[in-house]
Amino acid sequence: MRAIVVGGGIGGLATARGLGLRGWDVTVLERQRRLEAAGAGLSLWPNALRALDWLGVGDRVRGAGAPVVGGGLRTAGGGWLTRVAMDPSGGPIVVHRADLHEILAGGVRVRTGVAVSDPGELDADLIVGADGIGSVIRMRYAPQVRIRDSGQVSWRAVAPGDAPGGGETMGADGLRFGYLPMGRRGVYWYAVAPAPLRTTSKAEQLAELRRAFGSWHAPIPQLLEATDAAALLHHPLLDLDPVAPMRFGERIALVGDAAHAMTPNLGQGACQALEDAVTLAGLVPDGRNGTAAGLADALHRYDAERRPRVALVARRSWQVGRVAGARGRLASAAVRALARLTPSSATARAAQRIAEWAPAHPSPAAEGNATQRRAR
Ligand SMILES: Cc1cc2nc3c(=O)[nH]c(=O)nc-3n(C[C@H](O)[C@H](O)[C@H](O)COP(=O)(O)OP(=O)(O)OC[C@H]3O[C@@H](n4cnc5c(N)ncnc54)[C@H](O)[C@@H]3O)c2cc1C
Repeated sequence: MRAIVVGGGIGGLATARGLGLRGWDVTVLERQRRLEAAGAGLSLWPNALRALDWLGVGDRVRGAGAPVVGGGLRTAGGGWLTRVAMDPSGGPIVVHRADLHEILAGGVRVRTGVAVSDPGELDADLIVGADGIGSVIRMRYAPQVRIRDSGQVSWRAVAPGDAPGGGETMGADGLRFGYLPMGRRGVYWYAVAPAPLRTTSKAEQLAELRRAFGSWHAPIPQLLEATDAAALLHHPLLDLDPVAPMRFGERIALVGDAAHAMTPNLGQGACQALEDAVTLAGLVPDGRNGTAAGLADALHRYDAERRPRVALVARRSWQVGRVAGARGRLASAAVRALARLTPSSATARAAQRIAEWAPAHPSPAAEGNATQRRAR
């Protein structure tokens, strides 16, 4: 059976890999001229690592990334509000987005420079919309789903070198700064502010960030000093309201941000795209001898399994952003008091529960699979 996957991001490449493992003939259509992932770091929780194991690339991704060893919440002065101990062998990792992208792309057939405008013209047994938050496929079949702006913006970059620890720091007026050391790839950091998008140059934005975070605890000012302005990424934090149906008719499915772009407050957007990919690949009939009826049934089950879960994760993420981004001295003080009262913060507990997910279907991948090794 033949599948066309529209979009060569993390969700599209993972889906193509998964379908390939199930005997499908898969082509990814990507609008960019070159298959590349702009971006900085990405935290991958155990649920995503299990999905990557299912795809046979879990160990390679672990090897490219670094374990998240410590986490928690601090004040701008450096005092700890909550500390979260991570399991260095079974907890989340942080990986450079480009490394994950390259590993997922290995062996996948991708046609670049092809921007799909009319999904109705695509001829295959299965069409997968993996075309991100602005998905043409979603807009065509679920125009009621709207892109929602949180009113917060982010900056991300990788600074060279190393830094001790990691975690997130909250200041007054909804400012946040987080950093995660990535080993040889440097230190991934992000900053969040309740503000409109800046249209000034990257150099001016970096100067503004250095001023805003200059008096915060180490290593925040040092990371900003070490950052090259050219590496700075600046985005609004958006989600989809509500999450979209993940199946249309008998042969169209959505994966990743196309269906459920979410604010990054739980670090789960790409993790959920990976869950989608292996769930879809696990449910579809074997590509060597499947039938259209079997595929239609699989797509119904895919939507039923995935939609409630991604809706929950997106909702939690949005709620965390509302609390963490609270503006004004009173609101910020309330957030800090709340964090102090909960020894392992509510956010950490929510994140850990979400990360307990594991694929329901046995993996067809033979190697590179820590989950399977543990099960044996
Ligand atoms: C600030 C920030 C921090 C984040 N941090 C994390 C994190 O730590 N952990 C985590 O799990 N997630 C994180 N995320 C979320 C994560 O980045 C996304 O959920 C994930 O990248 C979505 O992947 P995707 O493949 O679904 O979509 P995308 O990455 O958007 O890929 C879509 C692809 O489709 C292509 N495309 C679009 N339209 C067409 C078309 N018409 N024809 C052909 N191709 C098309 C695009 O060029 C692109 O390559 C973060 C997001 C943000 C904004």
